Amino acid sequence: MADRPILIAGGGIGGFAAALALSRHGRAVHLLEQAADFGEVGAGIQLGPNVFKMFDVLGVTEAINEVAVFPDAAMMKDALTGDEIVRMNVGSDAFRTRFSYPYGVIYRPDLHNALIDACADQPLVTTSVNQTVTGFEDDGKIVRVFTKEGDTHEGTALIGADGLWSSVREQLVGDGKPRVSGHIAYRAVLPTAEVPEDIRQNNVVLWAGPKTHLVHYPLHKGEIYNLVVVFHSDRYEEGWDTFGDPEELTERFAGQHPDVLAMLAKIEAWRMWVLCDRDPIRDWSRGRVTLLGDAAHPMLQYLAQGACMATEDGVCLANRVAANGDDFETAFQEYQSLRYLRTARVQLTARMFGDIYHASDATADLRRVMLGAIDPAKPGEGMAWLYEGLDETGAQQFKL
Ligand SMILES: Cc1cc2nc3c(=O)[nH]c(=O)nc-3n(C[C@H](O)[C@H](O)[C@H](O)COP(=O)(O)OP(=O)(O)OC[C@H]3O[C@@H](n4cnc5c(N)ncnc54)[C@H](O)[C@@H]3O)c2cc1C
Repeated sequence: MADRPILIAGGGIGGFAAALALSRHGRAVHLLEQAADFGEVGAGIQLGPNVFKMFDVLGVTEAINEVAVFPDAAMMKDALTGDEIVRMNVGSDAFRTRFSYPYGVIYRPDLHNALIDACADQPLVTTSVNQTVTGFEDDGKIVRVFTKEGDTHEGTALIGADGLWSSVREQLVGDGKPRVSGHIAYRAVLPTAEVPEDIRQNNVVLWAGPKTHLVHYPLHKGEIYNLVVVFHSDRYEEGWDTFGDPEELTERFAGQHPDVLAMLAKIEAWRMWVLCDRDPIRDWSRGRVTLLGDAAHPMLQYLAQGACMATEDGVCLANRVAANGDDFETAFQEYQSLRYLRTARVQLTARMFGDIYHASDATADLRRVMLGAIDPAKPGEGMAWLYEGLDETGAQQFKL
């Protein structure tokens, strides 16, 4: 028994964070990834102070700090008038003192590689690529995992970290396909030199327009610039990671501020995502099998927290495993009960933030007045429930 590793399906940010956290507690892990290589799409990711606390626990802070960018502010601007609606000075002393950790942005491959490199230094972590998990069998002592390629892996437990379209979830929860939000995202990165000088800044800028928004910020020591645009559409039912249609962007963003149009014009190769999430659930564990990250609680990206939540999951789960020896059933139940309300709150708040970003007419006026009333001397206070995060044991600190 002791020789069998914990199996993890999926080598994304969540899978590697969990592998690292478990190995730091002395547990052997074998990670199975469907792709031929480990890789993340070259786009940006925002990192709240709550995940920096987890980076400390995982021992990757130094590697992350070398490649992350620390913006001065995260701000929302009106995409029609160009007026600033609200600004959170995330680079200020007040923010860092309040939350003890910084707010950063990072190139996805940089974050992924920091976790992969840390796992490579851990003899307890082994990996296999070209392994598409199709199902599992849990006999109460051993979990057998089957792959499309015809292999069977035996483990002492299984963690499904296989993302939005999780096949582990399909067998464990069986609640069908994710919910198609009706929002489409196009993402791109471009060399910073190509960003007009008057737009370039060390800030996360979100241009909020009717049924649209555009976000830009610098990445990778400021060498590249990240762009995400989102708009409402009923053209796509479902899909993932296909090439977008630049003409559609011109149409959707017509009449918006010249800075928005200037950024859109810079991009030739956009990648398109059909954004999906799910309603929160209470129960994503059974016996020696559990879920983590997007497999457990997929969310829209409007709070910029999916990868942060997956990382918190990994730390929390490893901690409960460490506390329960080989009683995985108890460990997984404790883990999910520590995680489900926090992640449910992020899932549901993310939907609400999408409505706020995409407001028009009177709702947009209300947004301007309400967000404009936020006290700039207390940056991030409204997000304290999220940014305060967990303690180093992975236990929840926020109060509902
Ligand atoms: C436009 C956009 C912007 C975002 N911005 C942010 C942000 O700023 N901050 C933030 O924290 N989050 C953000 N997110 C969310 C974040 O990307 C996800 O929540 C996060 O990547 C989830 O990680 P994961 O490891 O759970 O899943 P994934 O990243 O989806 O990884 C799953 C892995 O499992 C593999 N896999 C899938 N099926 C199988 C199988 N059957 N067998 C084996 N392997 C399998 C996949 O190939 C993949 O490697 C954003 C998302 C989008 C779409």
